[in-house]
Amino acid sequence: MTTKSAAAATLPTVHGYPRQGRGRELKKAIEGYWRGTVTADALLAAASGLRRENWTRLTAAGIREVPTGDFSLYDHVLDASVAVGAIPDRHRAAVEADPLDGYFAMARGTQDVAPLEMTKWFDTNYHYLVPELGPDTVFAANPAKAVGELREARALGHDARPVLVGPVTYLLLAKPAPGVAAGFQPITLLDRLLPVYAQLLADLRAAGAHWVQLDEPALVQDRTPAELNAAARAYRDLGALTDRPKLLVASYFDRLGEALPVLAKAPVDGLALDFTGPAAANLDDLAAVGGLPGKRLVAGVVDGRNVWINDLERSLATLATLLGLADRVDVAPSCSLLHVPLDAGLEREVDPQIARWLAFAKQKTEEVALLARGLREGTGAITADLAANRADLASRAASPITRDPAVRARAAAVTPDDARRARAYPERAVAQRARLGLPLLPTTTIGSFPQTTELRVARADLAAGRIDAAAYRERMEAEVREVVAHQEKAGLDVLVHGEPERNDMVQYFAEQLTGYLATRHGWVQSYGTRYVRPPVLAGDISRPHPMTVDWFRYAQGLTDRPVKGMLTGPVTMLAWSFVRDDQPLADTACQVALALRDEVTDLEAAGAAVVQVDEPALRETLPLRAADRPAYLEWATEAFRLATSGVRADTQVHTHMCYAEFGAIMTAIDELDADVISLEAARSHMEVAGELAAAGYPREVGPGVWDIHSPRVPGTEEVVELLRTGLAAIPAERLWVNPDCGLKTRGRPETRASLENLVAAARLLRAELAGGAAGRPVG
Ligand SMILES: [Zn+2]
Repeated sequence: MTTKSAAAATLPTVHGYPRQGRGRELKKAIEGYWRGTVTADALLAAASGLRRENWTRLTAAGIREVPTGDFSLYDHVLDASVAVGAIPDRHRAAVEADPLDGYFAMARGTQDVAPLEMTKWFDTNYHYLVPELGPDTVFAANPAKAVGELREARALGHDARPVLVGPVTYLLLAKPAPGVAAGFQPITLLDRLLPVYAQLLADLRAAGAHWVQLDEPALVQDRTPAELNAAARAYRDLGALTDRPKLLVASYFDRLGEALPVLAKAPVDGLALDFTGPAAANLDDLAAVGGLPGKRLVAGVVDGRNVWINDLERSLATLATLLGLADRVDVAPSCSLLHVPLDAGLEREVDPQIARWLAFAKQKTEEVALLARGLREGTGAITADLAANRADLASRAASPITRDPAVRARAAAVTPDDARRARAYPERAVAQRARLGLPLLPTTTIGSFPQTTELRVARADLAAGRIDAAAYRERMEAEVREVVAHQEKAGLDVLVHGEPERNDMVQYFAEQLTGYLATRHGWVQSYGTRYVRPPVLAGDISRPHPMTVDWFRYAQGLTDRPVKGMLTGPVTMLAWSFVRDDQPLADTACQVALALRDEVTDLEAAGAAVVQVDEPALRETLPLRAADRPAYLEWATEAFRLATSGVRADTQVHTHMCYAEFGAIMTAIDELDADVISLEAARSHMEVAGELAAAGYPREVGPGVWDIHSPRVPGTEEVVELLRTGLAAIPAERLWVNPDCGLKTRGRPETRASLENLVAAARLLRAELAGGAAGRPVG
């Protein structure tokens, strides 16, 4: 028996649950509505059915206070914009004409108006719609969704806790609306926003809410004193309201740091804190501020964003410490379960040994229920569960899947020299120029070519067994022939094979590497109705056979021009997968890098003079707090170099990034030591070329001259102008001509026309440069 009254009150809860349904019913209903095959009523009924299913499931698992408002037809930050009336002017008419269509217009745009911008939700792979605010923004409470879902849950007999994005995080996630000065700080609207939150809280209380959760994950990032002050003011004011439910302020994804004393002192009724990963520091920090006397603590001890079973005994120890620090301690996952798949039990094809180590949303819910019971009734009540958990953890720790002696020995033997090219760039550049014989301003593409219907049909036919591997390969080879011929005809200098055989730039490699696991039903929302199935880094990584060499060889056999070998870099492989939690990320990155290093070496041996290793995720994986970034960038850049440093001086290593703002990672870009980097630049008019030059970047650069995000074909003159701007920053000997990104999402005709214009522009400038030697002006 336990002695503390706090322990007696312990309950399990969750911040949010996956929205899509077991058969991704939500995606189907929404997309059907967009196509006109599902009515609005049918869509709303499907959504309501899914919410009911989630609450029933949670209640069955022992969750007594279910979340509401976490559900969304598209995105919870967009829902918050609607709830506070922050509708951009350009969407107002659509929203007034029909709230549902207006909502989707904000999310996806229409023929005439652009959608809200979309960006990553902290360091997860979920994307939210960025609120647009300005000095003229007028907020107005629209409680329909929050109150409606609360009533729905209560009508079904559930005790429910509405969840809203908190006011401080909402403003910190916003950006200045179009036409508003870039320096405008949305947080300055706090005083205008708080009365709207007060109204929402009053409406929720009137509808029966005892508790309301306000999510403030933005407070786990580095914050200025003014921003911390805003948080203090927000919760002082909301806490002082008389007509309000009890307030639970939630944070997750990292430690609260200097925001913890601010929230601990605020007159709110409870805090939800993350105690997993880097956020484990919250434990000592909480003790240091004297705990939360008189308050409720929702302790996130089960990792809400990774797929591994919890160490129940360790969590119980954490919880036991926390019992002394708050009036009441409840048990929860660290964050919304939105970031994990629904049910590991559906993965019947996974090796049963590994399946025992996996916990998706359903299993995590059971874990928090079990932990709460252990805390409430004493560990004696859950002895058998603890023993089973201990056995599963032991089997994971000792398994040859997680401990491959050959992989470990090789990783342990890595020296700093392995992660360094034998020759410095200037020497390599000379050797590469001699080997490749490329003209000034060489032209190339980023890697992928349009994914046509025929390719998707071929993949579906193979999956369904309608064609065999040989027939599939034939169809892919036909595509490679066409892509290579197309590039030769367009006059490109360095070709690609087009990647028709790749389903995804991470999954394709994950499927071929030992230690990587693909799931069948492990869908996770990326944004809106887009769901992805991230592979799982389950064990030690090795490469049983070459993964891309045959395709390279086939493509190179079709042409005399150099064809690039194409790989996904180690950091991106980690960023778009579920990672191991039983060893440092740096160790996993090293294993993946060694497997890729072998692939790079094999490509070189097969005749590749150019190998491109893409790292689009290098920036997005940056830790949320600046203090943690140098250590991350050190292992991340070392992993890239480890993958790419095994080649000869005259083999050219390219890398690619899908964005243009480098800021925090400019030094890291240099430390990759790639011979050529291509990046997005068309929309920012080559700004990045100037930034790289200003930072003294010494190697070759391909700032994109074709914005591939739209079907628009860039004219030759336009490309010439962009290249002139590029040449003002980067000398012609180091400037490449390429699109912003891969062409997977583009159509054939616009690809053909655009590439011809790229080549024409490069030729015009080459001629001018040749003349320039005779005294004619350039740029
Ligand atoms: Zn890209």
